Amino acid sequence: MSISGLTYLDHNATTPTKPAVVEKMQEMLTFPGNASAIHKAGREARRRIEQARGEIAAALHIGLRDVIVFTGGATEANNLALLGAGMERVIVSAIEHPSVLGVRGDAEVLPVLPSGIVDVAALGKMLEGNTRQTLISVMYVNNETGVIQPMEEIVAVARKRGALVHTDAVQAFGKIPLDVQKLGADFVTLSAHKIGGPQGVGCLVICNCNPVAPMVRGGNQEKNIRSGTENLPGIVAFGHATTLIDVEGFQKLSLWRDKIETSLKAAAPELVFFGKDMPRIANTTMFALPGAPSETQLISLDLAGICVSNGSACSSGTVKASHVLKAMGADEAAAGASLRVSLGWNTTEKDVDYFIEKWLDMYARVKSRLKQA
Ligand code: PMP
Repeated sequence: MSISGLTYLDHNATTPTKPAVVEKMQEMLTFPGNASAIHKAGREARRRIEQARGEIAAALHIGLRDVIVFTGGATEANNLALLGAGMERVIVSAIEHPSVLGVRGDAEVLPVLPSGIVDVAALGKMLEGNTRQTLISVMYVNNETGVIQPMEEIVAVARKRGALVHTDAVQAFGKIPLDVQKLGADFVTLSAHKIGGPQGVGCLVICNCNPVAPMVRGGNQEKNIRSGTENLPGIVAFGHATTLIDVEGFQKLSLWRDKIETSLKAAAPELVFFGKDMPRIANTTMFALPGAPSETQLISLDLAGICVSNGSACSSGTVKASHVLKAMGADEAAAGASLRVSLGWNTTEKDVDYFIEKWLDMYARVKSRLKQA
């Protein structure tokens, strides 16, 4: 898909807001009501927020004892779960998003296997004889490799030891079926801008009435768990985006993802793919061209108007070796030579073919230097 002439293949970082969602949002941008006001406009704003909450609840199949708390995105929701749950002990997987890894300095790190799947046996060992109140945080789908984690197994191991489970399901929502009740986790994080909603709005699903202390206090909104006037346009847009989710349709992206992998591998047999034979979401491929730093590849593709990434978007705009690949045991050379391509709802086959063509051009240019290295 062309955004001002760009070929945008970085949908795991953010996917463009869908036109029907933009329309809903525009309508609410000029709506005057504050959802806490008791007059007619306030009541209408409240109604629209509760409608959105209902849409999200339906998409997630949440239970009667589960609540959705709107936040300013998944980073805030992750912070709220890890800090608000108030657990003595926190265990986080090594491949979490920085918004989980950076929250509790005392968190213990759960290793992952070279496949990109968290080491469930190691979790069992970490929990042996555990008597402390414990929260385990494992993401449902990794944002870099797209690998799907065995959440139900993880929840079962945690339950045996009385530990609670938080899952950052940002990259799972809309991409694989997500049923909060079946999942059995205690806290689930979501973000609107990964499903065709706007940036800056997300939620934490708090299951089974688990207590959560607020981080933002004052106005008592969102059941006193997240104060501040609700982001009416964002929440309404988030709700509407969930009604447009098409998990089955999303699976078709695997055809184009596989086309990329096959075409690149045919020309460059030295390419290393990550998580390829594991259960993974349909739109994502991550691979390394040993000897070609990510930055070189990114710049070359950027010059051709192609937006991809080397893993997670770094806030400073610099390119760092992927912590996910390092945790999977990749050496520094491979972790620093990776590219992630993630397709989305408005990707076309023309985008895919253009990416393949330009990547192969780049490869032809750097190939002789790689051989000498
Ligand atoms: N978790 C994961 C897995 C993500 O991919 C992202 C977005 N990069 C976040 C959390 C943060 O989401 P937000 O931008 O809504 O804060």
